[in-house]
Amino acid sequence: MPSDSRGRRRVPLVDLGAQRRRLDGGIDRAIRRVLEHGRFVLGPEVGELEERLGQLSGAGHVVTCASGSDAILLVLLAWGAGPGDAVFVPTFTFAATAEMVALVGATPFFVDVSAEDFNMAAASLSEAVEVAADSGLRPRGVVPVDLFGQPAAYEAIEPLAAENGLWVLGDAAQSFGARFGERRVGTFGQATATSFFPSKPLGCYGDGGAVFTDDPELAEVLRSLREHGRGPTRHDYVRVGINGRLDTIQAAVLLEKLSVFGEEVEARQRVAERYASGLSALVGVPRTRAGATSVWAQYTVQAEQRDRVRAVLEAEGVSSAVYYPVPLHLQPAYSHAPRAPGGLAVSESLAARVLSLPIHPYLSEGDQDRVLSAVALAVR
Ligand SMILES: *Cc1c(COP(=O)(O)O)cnc(C)c1O
Repeated sequence: MPSDSRGRRRVPLVDLGAQRRRLDGGIDRAIRRVLEHGRFVLGPEVGELEERLGQLSGAGHVVTCASGSDAILLVLLAWGAGPGDAVFVPTFTFAATAEMVALVGATPFFVDVSAEDFNMAAASLSEAVEVAADSGLRPRGVVPVDLFGQPAAYEAIEPLAAENGLWVLGDAAQSFGARFGERRVGTFGQATATSFFPSKPLGCYGDGGAVFTDDPELAEVLRSLREHGRGPTRHDYVRVGINGRLDTIQAAVLLEKLSVFGEEVEARQRVAERYASGLSALVGVPRTRAGATSVWAQYTVQAEQRDRVRAVLEAEGVSSAVYYPVPLHLQPAYSHAPRAPGGLAVSESLAARVLSLPIHPYLSEGDQDRVLSAVALAVR
């Protein structure tokens, strides 16, 4: 176990080992069962997982796939997004959100976020939609991101999208398990993409993802696309697809993890509450919007002199990370993409101030206290 200069154990950002110990051999046994039945691709656990995810989210159809990126890509392929199409995405997000749009040949159109919840600002989206047509693009859809675990403002984005004939694909890579009022993640927009990357709130032991939708035809097309565009019979290819299936072993891992997922979400919430009371006088603490819950994929504070704070945490043996230091419109790969006319100033200022602290369901109160004292020391 790595330790700091005073020989203390480091406080890690996430602790997957603690989760595995809690599941007490369950995951190892689940993997072993797959090794024994040998149906490694689209084995029985995959269908079982899709059913469970449907029950948990309330979505009518769940199609698992090879990653969160593929989940976004598959939906864009299914809806035929391509050259000449503008797809509105926040600039303050992980690269994959805009990357999948660019990969299908469509244009990612950058929108600013709100400093309150880090998520797409409806006012910026509205301005962007207004000018997109002037630049010769056809506004097609919007991909709000549920950053750090909290659903975006779908209640404002959905009507705006409907008025302008845009589809809504939620990037819920960080938010599976969260809700807004009675609505659960998986039921916002026409489709929702999530990721099971190991460090996400619901993660497997490799790459994985899923799409949630109430549209049976979309679900059917997604099942075809994730298997090379296969038709109803074995050697029948009716569209151009990808190899985008979730491995059976990963489905088996996820089924085991779902047995404790609800409790884990509650445990994350308790850490977030304890952090909020200990940190609100020291740094900008994240807030959930009225009616929304977060699954706290990250606990992201805002601090002046962020890099100095980070260095103090490091010396105190407290891990931290910066999600995201550079908004996408300032990245070389995306610097030519169009953007909302009002600018992307909130995203730029957040990128300079944000700092994500350790959060996971097995973070002891002792370790939480170390995080709190390290932050206090850093900003004093
Ligand atoms: C992790 C993530 C993705 C991509 O998921 P992968 O499973 O890593 O492909 C997409 N969008 C956001 C916001 C993410 O955090």
